[in-house]
Amino acid sequence: MLTGPRRIEIVEVAEPELVPGSCVVAVERCGIGGPDLVAWSTGELVAPAWFGHEWAGRVVAVGADAGERFVGERVVGAVPPPCGRCTPCRAGIDTTCRLVMSMILGTDELADSHGAFAERIRVDARRVHRLPEGVDFADGSLAEPGAVAAHAVRRARPSLGDIVVVVGAGAVGLLVAELARLSGAGRVAVLEREADRRELACRLGADAAFGSPEDLLRWLSGQGHGLGADVVFECAGGQDAVDAGTEAGRTGGTLVLVGTAPDGALLRASTLVAREMTVSASLGYTVADVHRALHLMADDRFRVSELHGPAIGFAELASTFEGLSRRPGSRPKVLFQPR
Ligand SMILES: [Zn+2]
Repeated sequence: MLTGPRRIEIVEVAEPELVPGSCVVAVERCGIGGPDLVAWSTGELVAPAWFGHEWAGRVVAVGADAGERFVGERVVGAVPPPCGRCTPCRAGIDTTCRLVMSMILGTDELADSHGAFAERIRVDARRVHRLPEGVDFADGSLAEPGAVAAHAVRRARPSLGDIVVVVGAGAVGLLVAELARLSGAGRVAVLEREADRRELACRLGADAAFGSPEDLLRWLSGQGHGLGADVVFECAGGQDAVDAGTEAGRTGGTLVLVGTAPDGALLRASTLVAREMTVSASLGYTVADVHRALHLMADDRFRVSELHGPAIGFAELASTFEGLSRRPGSRPKVLFQPR
């Protein structure tokens, strides 16, 4: 459990209590995501159940009214379908459904007292989804960031032969690059400071990866008509990244903001207007994005295995967060396994 800034403690808690509408899942893997690192460094949690939310596991108990879930089922945790009753749903904006938001944030009434850096958790059965045959727990725990990437790509809809640039080769950036290709992009380039991540991006199918915006622009000048990228996904979340992404876009192109830019980050209005670019933003994902990401993994077209290395256990959790705060790992996704 996170008990303060940069302080993880291993604590014994009571067995999760099964209540109607819930199920208990034995955690097999849980990824460490960007929001987990932010929470760790500040000690500020939206809710305890939110710390460790990229999980896959096996259902070990099913409460009454828990739908089609069954004991032994292999599952992943994500968002539920929108409720259809809250104000955003009734307004037709189901991506910000209050039920969905409360489950993302772990503030719903069935949320457990802790997240999935644990042996077992109790969750609302509506946010549990079947893991397809052939997708193992380690890959399945990337369904959540995979859905974030799917949402971004589905919003921007790169079309056949498009030149696509992805800024930032963290887990979401790499997954976006893969899905942009599946979505029809002709050429995909990645801008990333870390050399090992650039290599990984190319192994996963990117045509080119660059460590500096200047090198990226030089490459773009030799692609297609040399005007720049049709679609740019900003997945790093810094002012530098937003600026580099804007510069990479062509006249009439699209800039998609996926990374969490710092408060006060600026968009270069003059460049955007001069190039008549479209700016789009992507937040989170929907249940449809989760299922698409999982189906593409099951079809072996969306490859996520290279993003994670061997799993860490309880004893290594604290030191792993320390390490990740100093330098990103050579694999962009560290997975926890309760042991
Ligand atoms: Zn709703």
